[in-house]
Amino acid sequence: MAARRLAELLADGVRGQRVLVRADLNVPLRDGAIRDDTRIRASLPTLRRLADAGARVIVASHLGRPGGQRRPELSLRPLAPRLAELLERGVSFCEDCVGEPARAAVAELGPGGLLLLENLRFHAGEEENDPDFCRALAALADAYVNDAFGTAHRAHASTEGVARLLARVAAGDLLASELQHLRAVLEPARPLLVVLGGAKVSDKLGVLHALAPRADALAIGGAMAYTFLASRGEPVGASRVEPERLEDARRVMRSAEQAGHRLLLPEDHRVAERLAADAPSRVVRAIPEGWLGVDIGPATARRYAEEARRARTVFWNGPMGVFEMEPFAAGTRALARALAESRGTTVVGGGDSLAAVNQLGLGPRMTHLSTGGGASLEFIQGLALPGVAALER
Ligand code: ADP
Ligand code: MG
Repeated sequence: MAARRLAELLADGVRGQRVLVRADLNVPLRDGAIRDDTRIRASLPTLRRLADAGARVIVASHLGRPGGQRRPELSLRPLAPRLAELLERGVSFCEDCVGEPARAAVAELGPGGLLLLENLRFHAGEEENDPDFCRALAALADAYVNDAFGTAHRAHASTEGVARLLARVAAGDLLASELQHLRAVLEPARPLLVVLGGAKVSDKLGVLHALAPRADALAIGGAMAYTFLASRGEPVGASRVEPERLEDARRVMRSAEQAGHRLLLPEDHRVAERLAADAPSRVVRAIPEGWLGVDIGPATARRYAEEARRARTVFWNGPMGVFEMEPFAAGTRALARALAESRGTTVVGGGDSLAAVNQLGLGPRMTHLSTGGGASLEFIQGLALPGVAALER
C-alpha cells in the first residue's frame, strides 16, 4: 500500500471542496517577526496547486511548543500576510483552529480561497491525538492533505487522527518528495555510506542500530565519536562521553562487523582546553588528559571525504564537530564539500547539519536536504511513520 498522491486527489476534483492541509509552518520567530521563511516557501507548491484547482484551502500547522495552552508569542497570525504575499492571493486568519470561529471562517471561504488556522498546539488534544479534537478538525473539511514531513513520525490529531476520519486524503508535494528521496537511502545504490555525528549517541541510537548492519560503511563523528572510542578503551580526555551508552556503542560496532561492513571512527582529533572559540586547540592522534575533542582531525576528514567520493549513496546527519565555533568547523566543512562533489545520491538531514551545509552555500549541490530531522531518521530505519501510514488507502 502506498500513500495517496496529491495528483490523484486533484484528478478526482476538488473544486469547491474544503481541503484541510497540514503544513509545517514551524518557522523561527523573534518578537513576532519571521526570521527564516524557508518552511513557508516549501509549503507553497501544494497550497498553490489546491487553490488553482478551486479548492477551499484550510491551512493548519503547529508552531513551537505551547504545550496545549494559548501563548500569544506562538501565534501563527504573523504568517498569514507572509503567505498571502508569497502566494499572491488573499489569506484570511482564524484565531482558533476548531470550533465555531473556525467553522464560520471556513464558511466564508470561496473556491480558490485560503484560510490559515491558529496554532494547533494551543489545544492539548493535538499532541494527545484526542478523538474529540480529531473530530473537531475533521468537521471543518471534506478532504485532507498532509504536507508536514517533519511531524509525520508523530501520531498527533492533525497528522494521524484526522486522516483516519476523512475519506479523501493525500500526501502533499513536499511530503511525497521527502519520501521519494529518503527511499533512495532505504533501498540504496551501493556502496551506501552513512555519516552520523552531532551531540549524542542517545539521540541517534535507533538509526545506529538499524544502519550499522545495512550501511556498507558507517562513519562516526561529532561528540558521539568519543563514546565509541571510550567503549573501545581509547583515551578521550575530558570529551563528552555518555557512560550509559558504552554498551550500545559496542553492540553497534559488533553488528557492523558481523555484517562484514565497516564502522569508521576518527583517527585524529582537534582538541581544545575548553569549549570556547578562543580556547587553545591542537590536532592530536590520542586525546590528552584534560582536553576535549571538538572536531574530527584532518586525516579523519580526508578519509571520510574519500569514502563519500566512492559511495553511490550517502546519508549524513549530525555535524562532525562544534561547527558553530569557527576554529572547530573544519571537519564539518570538509565533509560537506566532499558530499557536494560526490557523484552519488547525497541526502542530508538534521537542523544543525542543514545549517552547516547552507552556511557554506552547498545546499543546491546536495541531491536532497531533508527538512524533518526525527522523521527522516525514523524513515531510513525502515519504521512506519504514523502520518504516512494514515494516508495509505
Ligand atoms: P542535527 O541537528 O544535524 O541532527 P545534532 O543536533 O545531533 O545535529 O547535533 C548538533 C550539535 O552537536 C551541534 O550543536 C554541535 O555543536 C554539537 N557537537 C558536535 N560535535 C561536538 C563535540 N565534539 N562536542 C560537543 N558538541 C558537539
Ligand atoms: Mg540539532
